[in-house]
Formats: sequence, C-alpha cells, structure tokens
Amino acid sequence: MKADLAEIVADVCSSVEGQIGSGRVADYIPALSRVDPRKFGIAIMTCDGETVCAGDAEEPFSIQSVSKVFTLTLALERVGAPLWDRVGREPTGSAFNSIVQLEHEAGIPRNPLVNAGALVVTDTLLDGKNPSQAINDIVAFLRLRADDPAVRVDAEVAQSESETGDRNASLAHFMRSFGNLNGEVDDVLSVYFQQCAIEMSCRQLARAGLYLAHAGSDPISDEQIVSEARTRRINAIMMSCGHYDASGDFAFHVGLPGKSGVGGGILAIAPRRASIAVWSPGLNDVGNSLVGSLALERLSALTGWSVF
Ligand code: GLN
Repeated sequence: MKADLAEIVADVCSSVEGQIGSGRVADYIPALSRVDPRKFGIAIMTCDGETVCAGDAEEPFSIQSVSKVFTLTLALERVGAPLWDRVGREPTGSAFNSIVQLEHEAGIPRNPLVNAGALVVTDTLLDGKNPSQAINDIVAFLRLRADDPAVRVDAEVAQSESETGDRNASLAHFMRSFGNLNGEVDDVLSVYFQQCAIEMSCRQLARAGLYLAHAGSDPISDEQIVSEARTRRINAIMMSCGHYDASGDFAFHVGLPGKSGVGGGILAIAPRRASIAVWSPGLNDVGNSLVGSLALERLSALTGWSVF
C-alpha cells in the first residue's frame, strides 16, 4: 500500500506541476497577499496510520476557513443539536462572506461553513468564556488533534484581518440585531479572526482531520472525539457547503467532503480511508485553491476514494 500511495501522490504532483502558481493569492487580507503563489504541498494520512507527504507539506500556512470544521466540531460537542436553531444546513449559492440571505432569513445563516454561520459557531464557544479562553480552547483542540504543540495563531495575520474586517463586522452586527449573537461583536470577531489566522502545515492538518475519516475516533490514539453519527453529519455539511458556491462543482469533480480556506488550504476527507490536506495559495474566482482542487480531483480519480 505504501508504495502505491506514494506513487499516486507522485502522479498527483506531476499532474499539477504545470499549473502551480496559477490562481490569485487572496489580497483582501493584506498579510496573506505576501505568500509565495508557487507553494504546493500535499499530505495524506490514512486510517491505518500511513502518512505520505510531498512538496511543501511541512510548511505552515494560514488555515483560514478550514478552521470552521474544527470550531463546528467543538460547538456541536458543547451545545449539541440546539446549534441548529441558530444556523442552518443548506448551501448558500453565494459568496463566503455574503450578507444577502441574512435579512430574508431573519439573521439565521444558511450553514456553519460560511462566514456568518462560523461567527455564530464561534459565539457559542465564547459562552461563559472570555476571548482569550475561547481561542485557547480552539488552539488546544487543534494541537491535540494534530498531535503537535507547535500549532499557533499567526498574530500578524489576525491583526491584518481585523484591520480589514468590515465585512465580517457587518455580518456580526446584523446577526446581533436579530438576536442571533449573544457575545459582544468585538469579542466574537477577535476569536474568529484568530481562529482563521491559525497556521498549520499540510501534515498537521491531515493529522488533525483524521477523526473525521475514522467515524469520529482517532485511529492512532483510539480516542473518541465525536460520535459516528455526528461525524457523518459534519462530513455531509462539508460536502454540501465546504466550498461555498462551488460546493457542487467540488462534489462533481472530487466527490469528497472538503473544506477550503482563502489561505489556499483544503482539508478533504475520504471516509474510512484517509484525511488529506493540500495547500496552494492561488485561488479561483470563488476563493478556493485552484491547484489544490485539481490535485484532489486527480487523487480521487486515481484512488477511487470518491464517496459516490
Ligand atoms: N478569514 C477569512 C474571512 O473571514 C476566511 C474566509 C475563507 O477562508 N474563505 O474572510
């Protein structure tokens, strides 16, 4: 198996080689615009403990919206099903930072993987905590899941996003006006910007996502992180909503639950098989990694890991 997977990863790398550097690095968060667009990394961690990495798989990058999968896990563990009274489970067909549906839908965001929904999720993590406790909980969870105490927040990226965060502030104020945000807007934003600014490598991210590929338990430590039923649901939401208004396209081409971030990372889950992280900072028009998506499409075709 090892040789096979290593060969497949080598094939994936050569298939995207000519495209590396294409797409546009996110520049609406100034600190992200300085990232080298030619970076490309991939890490696969299988449920039986095999790891295959290639390219810049050890280099930390800003996980951005990939963090939303982990905060969703934490929020579901903390508040359970009542979370769904405050956030839906439907794709938006709109941009990740869109505000348009919120007025029609009375401040209830469509799903937890768009910015508005993620702000509500973060709000639940702030319940009874101050912002530094809440971000410490998130980082601690990721350190445990990645099995690496080096996972940390890049304070410069968080600051940069805070300085240019008017859109997220608008979403938060708007939802608060509908009574769907309990915390102070500044506190929610502070935690949200820091969770997005967590930096991790592909290897760390693939390791961290492994419980989602293994029915909610960590195959290496044997720890149950979330129930199997809840894991299915998190994966279902990743499949239907994890790539914003390109979620259908990602399902069509890749066929795996996935979550993208504007740092160019994507976490993809092959249930019962593997957790996969790719990173390439150039984004397509929707804000998903262009080369990362192509790499996952090739990987899914070669491995047959599509869930369909
Ligand atoms: N921090 C980013 C934002 O809120 C996350 C967006 C993303 O990765 N799609 O705008």
